[in-house]
Amino acid sequence: MSRNESPIKKLRSTAALRDLMADYYHELDEAAGSGPAKVAWCNSVGPAELLRALGFKVYFPENHGAMLGATRMATDLIPAANALGYSPEICSYLTSDIGSYVSRTTPLTRAYGLASVPTPDVLVYNTNQCRDVQDWFAFYKRELGIPMIGIETPRSLSRITPDIVEDLAAQHRALVPELERIAGASLDPDRLRAVTASSFRCTELWREVLRTACCRPAPLTYFDATIQMGPAVVLRGDERAERYYEALLEELRERMQEGVGAVDDERHRFYWEGMPVWGKLREHAEQFASLNACVVASTYCNSWIFEALADYDPFTGMARAYSELFIVRSEAYKQHYLETMARDYAIDGFIFHNAKTCPNNSNCNYGMHVRLSKKLDIPHIVIDGDLNDLRLYSEEQTRTQIEALVEQLEGIM
Ligand code: SF4
Repeated sequence: MSRNESPIKKLRSTAALRDLMADYYHELDEAAGSGPAKVAWCNSVGPAELLRALGFKVYFPENHGAMLGATRMATDLIPAANALGYSPEICSYLTSDIGSYVSRTTPLTRAYGLASVPTPDVLVYNTNQCRDVQDWFAFYKRELGIPMIGIETPRSLSRITPDIVEDLAAQHRALVPELERIAGASLDPDRLRAVTASSFRCTELWREVLRTACCRPAPLTYFDATIQMGPAVVLRGDERAERYYEALLEELRERMQEGVGAVDDERHRFYWEGMPVWGKLREHAEQFASLNACVVASTYCNSWIFEALADYDPFTGMARAYSELFIVRSEAYKQHYLETMARDYAIDGFIFHNAKTCPNNSNCNYGMHVRLSKKLDIPHIVIDGDLNDLRLYSEEQTRTQIEALVEQLEGIM
């Protein structure tokens, strides 16, 4: 490999992914203009199936947040939201997105030719992941004078009891009359069942994609997966997402059959716990690959697997699917989940990302990283950083920590 050559191996499916995401955004743009469909904004683990079944085009501000991070526009835009009173310590998706709105700039222009994000007809949230999404949407409710409705989910759950499921299913059902009014259409139960079934199949395919990395060498890295997860987030319930993952799976299986790893000469396997540092994905992917280390699994990418959507009753399915998530669960549940993942993927060490503006996705503040290392007898590092605000991230310190982790493992081998 020459000095300037990247060690990242591109997946050929990524060309089709680009086209699919472009179609998704162009359809949203059309709907927000003069198109017949209405636009609903939804949080990433909100009731997308219900919205899609009612004919809404569904837009996810968190996907926009990730684009603001990946393009490194976020760090410059966050102060505009801070000037409106939004603290630099709260979700930097929220602050960069609001900063982007008030600064009238979006990465969607460069990526897909959109003049602005698609204007919503309704804002729909679920507080399962955090309270920030509700406050985020409340900004747009005030700003644009549009309705905001949502679901309040209890958090830190050890067990998902029948009472919780019943309550959440009822909350999902209660959204229907207002959504029907805005959509100008009645909910067709068969359509809802079909969309939910498609969402479930998408989820299963996405799980299979991620599980290919159990193989040694892994045909896919966590960094690939953060890009490949786009359709599972924004197009679940749309059959195009299923077709995409079928093709991707075929490509990954080819790699497996031929013994081709995503990282050349894979020597070490890591688990990434926490959010990506979106503005440093490439640097991280290159550093791990150049150290013959593969980040094979993550909590983040596995968060769009919704087994419960197989339930015959879509409302019960959504209630369970969106409360069984890792982020909604208790510390003990999370630790058990990470132990299982570490064994399934045969990992040699953990990377915990302590994202300063998202405590909801940072699981190294109450000793779990130390307990896991001890129990599994594998090392870990904690990277201090952030999903979008690069002022909270130290490149040099992180590089050194990753090198030291790999050196430690080399010493053990
Ligand atoms: S979970 Fe974290 S990153 Fe996601 S919206 Fe909430 S605070 Fe922001």
